[in-house]
Amino acid sequence: MFTLNACGQSTNKKSTKEKSMQNVINKPENPYYSNTDTKKLNVSNEEWKKILPPNLYAVAREADTERAFTGTMWNDETKGTYYCSVCGYKLFESNQKFTSSCGWPSFFEQDNKESIIFKPDNSYGMRRTEALCGRCNSHLGHLFDDGPEPTGKRYCMNAVSLDFVPYKVSTTNNSNLDSSDSEQAKQKIVLAGGCFWCVEAVYENLQGVEKVVSGYAGGNAINPSYEEVCSGRTGAAEVVEITYDKTKTNLDEIFQVFFTVHDPTTLNRQGADVGTQYRSAIFYKNAEEKKAAESIIKELNEKVFDGKIVTSIEKLDEFYPAESYHQNYYAQNQNKPYCQMVIQPKVEKFEKVFKDRLKKN
Ligand SMILES: [Zn+2]
Repeated sequence: MFTLNACGQSTNKKSTKEKSMQNVINKPENPYYSNTDTKKLNVSNEEWKKILPPNLYAVAREADTERAFTGTMWNDETKGTYYCSVCGYKLFESNQKFTSSCGWPSFFEQDNKESIIFKPDNSYGMRRTEALCGRCNSHLGHLFDDGPEPTGKRYCMNAVSLDFVPYKVSTTNNSNLDSSDSEQAKQKIVLAGGCFWCVEAVYENLQGVEKVVSGYAGGNAINPSYEEVCSGRTGAAEVVEITYDKTKTNLDEIFQVFFTVHDPTTLNRQGADVGTQYRSAIFYKNAEEKKAAESIIKELNEKVFDGKIVTSIEKLDEFYPAESYHQNYYAQNQNKPYCQMVIQPKVEKFEKVFKDRLKKN
């Protein structure tokens, strides 16, 4: 039994990297989006409403403010470029960013004097300066006078208004990253989201993910077998260990994918798979991962899941790779009923929501 070509996307491990450094983000649904075009846009809110996701529309066109500590961009120190997420205009470089305790991405300087324009904002009984994209006039956040030297300014931005592209994201395989840099950029995270075949199949196709290994973690068993884990008596969960390059993706995106492709509200259960081995869990190795996990769960509980997330945050003691026949299970067994009925819909949902971030792009 071999791979059916019709759904053989996840077997393609080599990412194709044909995009140039100039236009690294592809938003086919947004015809105004460009990382290179600097011509000013004059697009009505009615039109934007048809194009932008609702949370971005609310911030960009209705000057809404996202919750502080949303996602991880506010304290992310990855080097790269920040663009307007509405129109693609270049706004900042990471060397203009600083970590501010306010919980929003903060910068002390804009990329160039055209990048961001300002308007007095006297809403909510405060005198503030609104910061808007210099190309599309979308609301980004506010400008304050309590930033660090040399400018003393603090550009307090909504993370949703920014697209971040790490440096070297679109370089070819003979990239100029030396080996120590690329080793340092490698990170691992262990996640449990029900049947590991499903979770593995999804992450195999996310840009920046280098390796996904199905396995077991949690509980007390040492190097348990699949049968032992399936018995539900070991306390171990089916997990995947994701190795990713943090210059090409980040923990926030990996978590976004995680909460998109599994149901974090059903305790010890994913669909017909029932038992603690199918629990929803994030296994952290350090305080940073723990904090990022807590932050996204808090955010999604407020915005999407109405406080119903049951995902546990557990300390990772040991990750045990599963038996070899579990690795790349979906890619190897796509014509089995479980793959067609359970895994394929999850893969398709992921491919739809994260269509700009697939390796096949
Ligand atoms: Zn813009």
